Amino acid sequence: MAQDLVIGADVGGTWVKYVVVDTADQRVLQGEIATDTGDVGITIGLLAREVLGALGTDRSRVQAVGLACAGIVSPDSGRLGRSPNLPGWEQQDLSAPLRDAFGLRNVVVANDVNAALYGEYLHGAGRGCLHLVMIALGTGVGGGVLIDGRLLLGVHNSAGEIGHMILDLDGPTCTCGNHGCLEAYAGSAALLRRARELAAAESAVPLGSGGAISDSFGDFVNRLGTQLTTNELYQMAEAGDLTAVALFRTAGHRLGQATASLINLLNPDRVIVGGGLALAGDLILEPCREVVRDGVLAEQARNTPVVSAALGPHAAALGAAALARETEF
Ligand SMILES: [Zn+2]
Repeated sequence: MAQDLVIGADVGGTWVKYVVVDTADQRVLQGEIATDTGDVGITIGLLAREVLGALGTDRSRVQAVGLACAGIVSPDSGRLGRSPNLPGWEQQDLSAPLRDAFGLRNVVVANDVNAALYGEYLHGAGRGCLHLVMIALGTGVGGGVLIDGRLLLGVHNSAGEIGHMILDLDGPTCTCGNHGCLEAYAGSAALLRRARELAAAESAVPLGSGGAISDSFGDFVNRLGTQLTTNELYQMAEAGDLTAVALFRTAGHRLGQATASLINLLNPDRVIVGGGLALAGDLILEPCREVVRDGVLAEQARNTPVVSAALGPHAAALGAAALARETEF
């Protein structure tokens, strides 16, 4: 039987999303299982049982497995380095449990945003481009860089940590311990924190709002407390609440500051913005584009498209599958 299938999986702090893809890039299977953040072997074992079980006799068609993981991943050694959302997985070998669980020699591992970028490059918002930057606005902010159709890993596999570009040494504290990183402005955790600060201090004036905080914003945010999500902030902004609009605008300006520097540095075809906050679309992307137009040096690069990711929540799993297919073992 032809070995025409590849499996791609994306390990997040809560779920492992997976796809099985054929040579025509059609998904023959997709789904998710819960992540055990304390144990690599248990999670990968469950994943293999679920996917191979669903494939049945077609399991013999599987050629390779790609696993994307949040954190610093070394594709050569198969090890995961720092990974705050997967504490029990840090400093663990990922390749050996994958080989054991799937009964396959051909396995690859990659950083999750790098995998998502590779997926977008082949099948999504970056199709037809050779030079891409991806910024993933999740709880934190991840990044990836593709040059000449190849992912940029760097000497320690830690290239593309765009979320920790320092934009203001006196800025808010970041999860990494530094101050003023992009993540401290444009990650959803930072946005929620800022929203609560504004709601708590009625006198605070957000950047660009031009006035005192609106009653509805403070009441709404205080009422929801820890239940507040960026989706609610998005809906408030869409409904015209000025404070909510200003929150996204500030995040978008900071995103633009980082994006302009990345365009000056790398001159990509496109910058792809993904992750949950990217669903706010032009509320966050338009302020970003404004800063890019003013902040980019080369005239031809000032209109570098800043676009939303296109592949949705399975982007990293699809990218991991593509990396598995393209790797020469
Ligand atoms: Zn940081």
